[in-house]
Amino acid sequence: MTSPTSYQQNITEFPVRNIEKIHLPKNLEDLRAILLLAGESGRPVYPISTGHNWGLGSRMPVNDADIIDLKHLNRIIEVNRELRYARVEPGVTQQQLYDYLEIHAPELMLNVTGSDAGSSILGNIMDRGSGKSGHRAEDLRELTLMLADGQLIHTGFGELQSTHGSFYKYGLGPDLTHLFTQSNYAIVTEAVVNLRVKQPFNLYLAVIDKAGLQAFLNQMAKLVAQEIVGYSLEIDSQNDPKIYELFESGKDFSDKWIAWFVVTGQEEVLPAKHSVVSKALASLTSDLKTYSSAADHSSSTPPVRVRIDRYHGQPNDHSLLATARKFGVELSGQEVNLDLHPQIPGFRCVLPVIPFTGASAALIQYIENFSHDRQLDPAISVIALNSYSLEVFARVYFDRSDQSAVSKAGTWASDLLSELQLQGIYPYRLDIENMAGYLQKIKNPYTRLQNQLKNLFDPNNTLAPGRYS
Ligand SMILES: Cc1cc2nc3c(=O)[nH]c(=O)nc-3n(C[C@H](O)[C@H](O)[C@H](O)COP(=O)(O)OP(=O)(O)OC[C@H]3O[C@@H](n4cnc5c(N)ncnc54)[C@H](O)[C@@H]3O)c2cc1C
Repeated sequence: MTSPTSYQQNITEFPVRNIEKIHLPKNLEDLRAILLLAGESGRPVYPISTGHNWGLGSRMPVNDADIIDLKHLNRIIEVNRELRYARVEPGVTQQQLYDYLEIHAPELMLNVTGSDAGSSILGNIMDRGSGKSGHRAEDLRELTLMLADGQLIHTGFGELQSTHGSFYKYGLGPDLTHLFTQSNYAIVTEAVVNLRVKQPFNLYLAVIDKAGLQAFLNQMAKLVAQEIVGYSLEIDSQNDPKIYELFESGKDFSDKWIAWFVVTGQEEVLPAKHSVVSKALASLTSDLKTYSSAADHSSSTPPVRVRIDRYHGQPNDHSLLATARKFGVELSGQEVNLDLHPQIPGFRCVLPVIPFTGASAALIQYIENFSHDRQLDPAISVIALNSYSLEVFARVYFDRSDQSAVSKAGTWASDLLSELQLQGIYPYRLDIENMAGYLQKIKNPYTRLQNQLKNLFDPNNTLAPGRYS
């Protein structure tokens, strides 16, 4: 569908932006022509890779703009097995790269996200998303990008035309790669993304008393810092719809957190690591289950099975399908597009980043209390981005046809962001509705420099105006 209307439909029921046209470039020449025309006409454009930016804006721009949908730029340009990377265009999906690797480099895997298999690799990195094994931005080696004037630029050693592949991400001199993530300075046309070597692993499922979260986080921070546990920790509230199948047996998990994490290593190493983990967590969990990646999990409960798949680099749609099913909607078909199913509840999310320390348990408790005071019961996932940062994915669900529920959720999100800001806690990603107001409040020399850079790269302000600046 290429009508602007379908691009305005969004799971969050954000107010509709004016979109007059959908551009669908098939190659770089098309893209250059679109950008030059936008510069001449002054009509802004907003790039999307697959546009599954659910909860943050879906396919809608921050401010009124035409859409450049990059789905047809979907080539896997190179996979380098020795240097372990893939060079991909914006429209390449997680599933597409997985299928390619299974045939051409089955020992390698991508750090996949918990979003759907049809979502892009590049768009997610452009928003600095999170994978199952850590921050997606940290997987980025190099970029190729097009500036508003049509110039093509390569970061890293790309401009120097190294013939030895991508093996050193900083290039020479100031490193500009991350100027282009979470920004509106250019349109990225290629990314070089790290691949990992598949390894045997144990997946752990731990049940934690709510009162024990601080001690658990303290201990996990140590295990991650010691590199016993990877950047894989995910702690879910028991009302999180994507894990509802765990509770179908009728067990009572109220007042519990459900934690998942992974320990990797060759067969000789895993038992030693397992013994360290079991001892460290013995008094901190009310239940600790282990699932070996080598075992057959075809009869395991879906939340276990799909996590095993993801840690093998295989993406899936389970989070979306389970959420829909929990609310009584059975989704099927090739492409799962939440935006186009108004019968699935909408959701608003807030994504603070908090320190990976035991003390952060109080911040998580704060978010719960803040929401309960407003008669809202948020689903919360706490996810390790690396050894010192945790992402909080807090969201409330609502009936998309109930305008008062939509605005109640919207007010919850804006107020929570403001209250957390007063405590020195900031979001690691922002939605299109809160972007302008939130960024307005944090004007300082650094943000002024960001704006000067915007002016340098895109003097007519035609590329994604308002996106993170
Ligand atoms: C149930 C559920 C689970 C989820 N799990 C995760 C998760 O585990 N991790 C996670 O990070 N997110 C998650 N998400 C959020 C979201 O679905 C993903 O982040 C998804 O990858 C974003 O969509 P996309 O890849 O299509 O990017 P897009 O929507 O195409 O783009 C994202 C942003 O990047 C910008 N952009 C895109 N392409 C370019 C380009 N070529 N040049 C410049 N800028 C560009 C866009 O303007 C947009 O603002 C989840 C959502 C749901 C509903």
